[in-house]
Amino acid sequence: MVRTRVSRRGFLEGALGAVGALVVSDGVGSAAEAAFGRSTRAPWNRLAAGLDGRLVRPGQARYAEAALLYNSRFAGLRPAAIAFCRGSDDVARCLEFTHAHDVPFALRSGGHSYGGYSSSPGLIVDVSALDTVEVDPRRRTAKVGAGAQLIDLYDAVARHGLVVPGGTCPTVGIAGLAMGGGVGVLARRYGLTCDHVVGARAVTATGDQIGIGPDSHADLWWALRGGGGGNFAAVTSFRLSLEAAPPLALFSLQYPWSRAAAVLEGWQHWSATEPDETWSSCQLFSQGTAGLLVQVNGVYCGLPDELERRLARLAGLVGAAGSTFVGGDDYLEAMKVEAGCASLTVAACHTAGQWPGGTLGHTAYAAKSSYVGAPESRERTSQWVAAVERLAREAPSLGGGLAFDGYGGAVNRVASDATAFVHRDKVAGVQATYSWGSGSSPDEVAAGARWLRWLGADVIDPAEGAYVNYIDPTLTDWARAYYGSNRARLSRVKAAYDPADRFRFAQSVPLPARGSSV
Ligand SMILES: Cc1cc2nc3c(=O)[nH]c(=O)nc-3n(C[C@H](O)[C@H](O)[C@H](O)COP(=O)(O)OP(=O)(O)OC[C@H]3O[C@@H](n4cnc5c(N)ncnc54)[C@H](O)[C@@H]3O)c2cc1C
Repeated sequence: MVRTRVSRRGFLEGALGAVGALVVSDGVGSAAEAAFGRSTRAPWNRLAAGLDGRLVRPGQARYAEAALLYNSRFAGLRPAAIAFCRGSDDVARCLEFTHAHDVPFALRSGGHSYGGYSSSPGLIVDVSALDTVEVDPRRRTAKVGAGAQLIDLYDAVARHGLVVPGGTCPTVGIAGLAMGGGVGVLARRYGLTCDHVVGARAVTATGDQIGIGPDSHADLWWALRGGGGGNFAAVTSFRLSLEAAPPLALFSLQYPWSRAAAVLEGWQHWSATEPDETWSSCQLFSQGTAGLLVQVNGVYCGLPDELERRLARLAGLVGAAGSTFVGGDDYLEAMKVEAGCASLTVAACHTAGQWPGGTLGHTAYAAKSSYVGAPESRERTSQWVAAVERLAREAPSLGGGLAFDGYGGAVNRVASDATAFVHRDKVAGVQATYSWGSGSSPDEVAAGARWLRWLGADVIDPAEGAYVNYIDPTLTDWARAYYGSNRARLSRVKAAYDPADRFRFAQSVPLPARGSSV
């Protein structure tokens, strides 16, 4: 099967591909070292001695790689140490250490936080070694270590003829994805990843190791399904419910740019009224020097000839596509196509330097998100198209644009207060991104930043909300945007499990305001 499509992961990488030029250093002499390191080596040494896993400090071998997040715009961050935990006791020891020594910390799973919130000037508590996936095919569940990467989860469940709705990027960690929601190609058919979290285990702020589910800490279970990572407790494993693998058919339709507004307008109506089996994304994309692209990509849970009928309906609304690609595929292969690593082995679908045999790179990017509440008019879709043209004009060599991911189906059948994920009435999620490479001019990168700011102020409607998994440090009213009517309840869960606000970062769920009755 020919695989000519810009994958969803490729969308973030823009026209530039993964960025090779990371600014890495061994961290010696860093601010973090000065603040939490040099004068206090003995406690760090004691922590290292007490862990089953490895503690990596500035100046030690592989510190630079250990400190890296996926987004290479954060390559300059210099944590005082990274603890590669090997079990929940290690996680508990790390939390106790940070408390005893008043050291800031961040939890890290796959390291894909858009805001860099899985790094810290103090200790990174890394759970990536907690990556086992134990499938129970009879019960159709899997116990998944909080550090498992998506490609390994897909691989493990596919071996049993099972699937779980996930996300695009093969190296995203299950912890961040599931706790923020988890929107992927199976979402309209089976719901979000968080809708499949039937239980979890976690270490709390007080060091207790607890089981979480409908019958135990049910309020925390509610909050962990959409309330976002890093807020309430350190999760060490999840129990996920799985589905029998359906046949899958993939498609990618590309259109001339002159029809972009009509395609986006028609696609919204089509996507919203398709059966649950059809999932798709409409992308308006400036590919740097390769020009502008509008495409509709998707995955259908069914056979290719049924998909052809679905696409004929789309063609009736938006006209014929310039190029079409349709083909059946199995689940793992389909996930690899979406991940942009179709021709690679599972091992190769990991990050180079961080996984044996991994070949994938890092990307520097910035993003914003919003939602489409109801299909928008041609006037509005023309505004979106003009926004991408503006990016192409002002930052002509950068990649970026807008991706509209279909919601509806099983996502929207869950009540907005049944889990902490509130956005259950949307037609589509919107993600705006631009990305750059080591060769990009600083002026163009600055132009990209101006574009995103302008988009956030003048084009995106803040009342429609934002997706916490595309966490956006520039958003002002972020708690309302991410959590809407669920935010007071999230604050109450925060107060119950982390009253001292130890799990804290710039956009962590706030404690209830003093004097408030929530
Ligand atoms: C290339 C790319 C493609 C993506 N595609 C999709 C997609 O298709 N669908 C989608 O829904 N999202 C997608 N995302 C967004 C992704 O879901 C979020 O960035 C997610 O939060 C990343 O999880 P992580 O574990 O990799 O990141 P991390 O940075 O490790 O963690 C994210 C947050 O969770 C916290 N956290 C980490 N581990 C734990 C733990 N054990 N316990 C408690 N808190 C913890 C961190 O402190 C941080 O605040 C994509 C991101 C990228 C970069």
